[in-house]
Amino acid sequence: MEEDCIFCKIVDKKIPAEIVYENNNTIAFLDISPASKGHTLVISKKHSKIISDMADKDLNDLILTVKNLSSILLKFNKGVNLVQSNGKEAGQEVFHVHFHLIPRSENDNLDVGRWNSHKYKDEKERKAVANKIRSFF
Ligand code: 5GP
Ligand code: ZN
Repeated sequence: MEEDCIFCKIVDKKIPAEIVYENNNTIAFLDISPASKGHTLVISKKHSKIISDMADKDLNDLILTVKNLSSILLKFNKGVNLVQSNGKEAGQEVFHVHFHLIPRSENDNLDVGRWNSHKYKDEKERKAVANKIRSFF
């Protein structure tokens, strides 16, 4: 429990939320300002700011609940986007790790999962970027 965390308060039932599923370690509730009907947030009951702070076990539990909720949403929606943001530069506003599950329908005109694509300057630049990532393993 983190003092000033709105999602920890939802976990502790200190503030209301439209909870759609809960188990020992995870909880899923409707986003207060949804991108589409059924837009759901799934979180671990344990507070971590970003995904890399999470214990493997907690992340395993979380992703399983994300999978279950996705399966359910896909029973009555054509598609579902998963969005998970880390860092304010990535658009994160609530610093308690969460997955957005955003139901999609044909021609819904939602701006989710689409971005302007860019090109690497040349092969050298591409290799340098790949090598940087590889070097951390
Ligand atoms: P982020 O930008 O951090 O990925 O997303 C945070 C999400 O949390 C937003 O979509 C926002 O609507 C939602 N949110 C913020 N405060 C509350 C709240 O008090 N209750 C609920 N249900 N959702 C919230
Ligand atoms: Zn929290």
